[in-house]
Amino acid sequence: MDCIFCKIANGEIPSTKVYEDDKMLAFRDLDPQAPVHILMIPKEHIASADDLTEENAQIVAHIFTVAKKIAAAEGLTNGYRIVNNCGEDGGQTVKHLHFHLLGGRSMAWPPG
Ligand code: 5GP
Ligand code: ZN
Repeated sequence: MDCIFCKIANGEIPSTKVYEDDKMLAFRDLDPQAPVHILMIPKEHIASADDLTEENAQIVAHIFTVAKKIAAAEGLTNGYRIVNNCGEDGGQTVKHLHFHLLGGRSMAWPPG
């Protein structure tokens, strides 16, 4: 499958990994939008949040549980943001489910 994040997950494309286990991977975004900008992905190819089901959605709880450990390890004691862009209007450019972990500066709301 021609999926850039599957290729990162299987090591075909290099990345700066910050966390890995049998189910997920976290690595630094190529184009960081904050001092800390990490992408967290399931190793299983799930195209988007819109493709989650009762059968495959446990990975989301796992990713969020790991996210707070990554945030702590990155020194984000003052808070952080987790973002999922879903589909065209959501601004999703890579069609493999991923959560952005952003921190190290104050975030605006609402997003543009
Ligand atoms: P999206 O816009 O789909 O929510 O986010 C995709 C993210 O993936 C973007 O922030 C983009 O910078 C990042 N990205 C795209 N290609 C690569 C890559 O090859 N390596 C890394 N580390 N990040 C990538
Ligand atoms: Zn994929």
